Amino acid sequence: MVITYPLKSGLYVNLTNRCPCACVFCLRQNAPGVFGTDSLWLEREPTVDEIIESIESRNLDDFTELVFCGYGEPTERLDDLLAVARHVKSIRPGMLVRINTNGLSDLIHGEPTAVKLKGLVDTVSISLNTPDPEEYLKVCRPKFGLESWQAMLDFARSCKDCVPDVVMTIVDEPVTTPEVQEKCRAITDSLGVRLRIRPYEG
Ligand code: SF4
Repeated sequence: MVITYPLKSGLYVNLTNRCPCACVFCLRQNAPGVFGTDSLWLEREPTVDEIIESIESRNLDDFTELVFCGYGEPTERLDDLLAVARHVKSIRPGMLVRINTNGLSDLIHGEPTAVKLKGLVDTVSISLNTPDPEEYLKVCRPKFGLESWQAMLDFARSCKDCVPDVVMTIVDEPVTTPEVQEKCRAITDSLGVRLRIRPYEG
C-alpha cells in the first residue's frame, strides 16, 4: 500500500482513508490512482513506525516539505500525525510540515485542536471550496451537518495563533466564478488568512 509518495518538492503522507465528508468532487470516488500512484486506498492504516520507516526510506534531500494529505482527512489521526511530524523535525529541522485538511478537526475530536500544531506544523491548508454555507453542505456533505461550516472557519482563525502559514483554498475558473472568488477573498480577509486559488485540473 502507498504510505508516502513524492509530488514536486513534497513528500506526501497517506495516513488514513477516514473522512467526515463525502465531497462530490473527491478523488477517492472519482480517480482510481492519483499523483503517479496505483491507488491511495489503504489495506489498513499504517502505524506511526511504518510511516516513519516509509519516510526514512526516501532520500529526504529531494524534498523541502512533508505534506499530510492522501485519500482521507489527515486530522482523523491527529496524534499520530503529530508524532510523525515531531520525529521528522527532530531528524530534519529544516523540513517544512503541511497539513491539507477540510478544517473539521475540532469537530472530529470534540475539542480545540489548533494549539496542538504549535511548533510542529508550518502550514495548514484548509479547503474552503465555496463562500456559501448551504452550498458547502451540498458539495462537501459533512457528517456533522450545518455546524461544520462555522467550525471550519473557527479552526482557520484559531490556527493563526499556532501555525506560521494558514491558507484556505478554492479551485479557479471554471469551477468558481470571479464573483465567487471575491466572496471567498472577503471571508479569508476577515479571518486574516491567505486565499489560494488552485488551478483547475479537470
Ligand atoms: S474532505 Fe477531502 S478526503 Fe474528505 S471527502 Fe472531501 S475531498 Fe475527499
